[in-house]
Amino acid sequence: MTTSNQTPAILVIYTGGTIGMIKDPHTGALTPFDFHTLYKHIPILENISCQIESYSFDPLIDSSNMKPAFWIKLAEVIEENYHKFDGFVVLHGTDTMAYSASVLSFMLENLNKPVVFTGSQLPMGVIRTDGRDNFINAIEIAVAKNEVGLPMIPEVCICFENNIMRGNRTSKFNAENFNAFLSGNYPLLAKVGVHIKYFEQNVMKPGSGKLQLHKKLDQDVAILKLFPGITENVVKSILAISGLKGVILETYGAGNAPTDQWFIDELESAINSGISVFNVTQCKGGSVEMGKYETSIHLESIGVIGGYDITTESAIAKMMYLLGKGYSGPELRKFLQTPLAGELTVE
Ligand code: ASP
Repeated sequence: MTTSNQTPAILVIYTGGTIGMIKDPHTGALTPFDFHTLYKHIPILENISCQIESYSFDPLIDSSNMKPAFWIKLAEVIEENYHKFDGFVVLHGTDTMAYSASVLSFMLENLNKPVVFTGSQLPMGVIRTDGRDNFINAIEIAVAKNEVGLPMIPEVCICFENNIMRGNRTSKFNAENFNAFLSGNYPLLAKVGVHIKYFEQNVMKPGSGKLQLHKKLDQDVAILKLFPGITENVVKSILAISGLKGVILETYGAGNAPTDQWFIDELESAINSGISVFNVTQCKGGSVEMGKYETSIHLESIGVIGGYDITTESAIAKMMYLLGKGYSGPELRKFLQTPLAGELTVE
């Protein structure tokens, strides 16, 4: 595949998930779609002026089985094909798409081409599928260039139900509606209607250097979600996990947590033993502001790291990525609080 004759070339990477399923006419069972017959299934694609090639993972996975090893393979496929294609469309199950899009945004440093994740709530082979439109829109986004020939969206994004969102700002918030993804703290990159409207002021500047792939992800991490009634035993057990290096602490509202002495003591001794605790709000919109209420002042004073408006999906991905690069202590804190791929807004 080349990009000669100015015809853009797109690599469609199929990882699995609902979007790629069609009904076997003989058995009635849902089976994976053969992407080599893509044009037969979606003939309208012929009208988009681009060449499409596909790469299918083997085995295909339900995205609930997503693992760092798979992310590394996915990033490698993009890196190996980076110079041959103008853009990438990643077909992915919706369940963990926000995590995958987040981690890829950190792993692919200096990205200057679109990596568009999409999927669907109904299989491609079902008459009312949302997969067909999501897929066509994703291809259009991956192909789109501005007046000087540069990609309109040179970043990792999610294209779902007419919304183009920065991948590391998203969460799956609905298990049933076609409108399944939310970008609660960052505006859309583009909106699909009669025309595709691009909001260029919201889009990342393309990376200027060579694409750099970061393949080390450290899994010695945990998410500790607070709830009224959480016991000392639960908090203690999580913080005592052997080898634990980073914890995403999902707090209430603007970063608030109980003021019980046992809770502060547990967190403080974990932090003193070298575990980095990153404070992320359970809310789908808004930001952590440690020190705003009495219920977060103590977190600040014992060294909990404020996560601003980052999502949990992005926070865990970023923690794995930064620990994988070998950061700890003040350096890890600094990078956690610095936007690396547009994942958080520092006020
Ligand atoms: N469980 C499926 C997955 O995430 C659901 C979907 O494809 O949307 O792979």
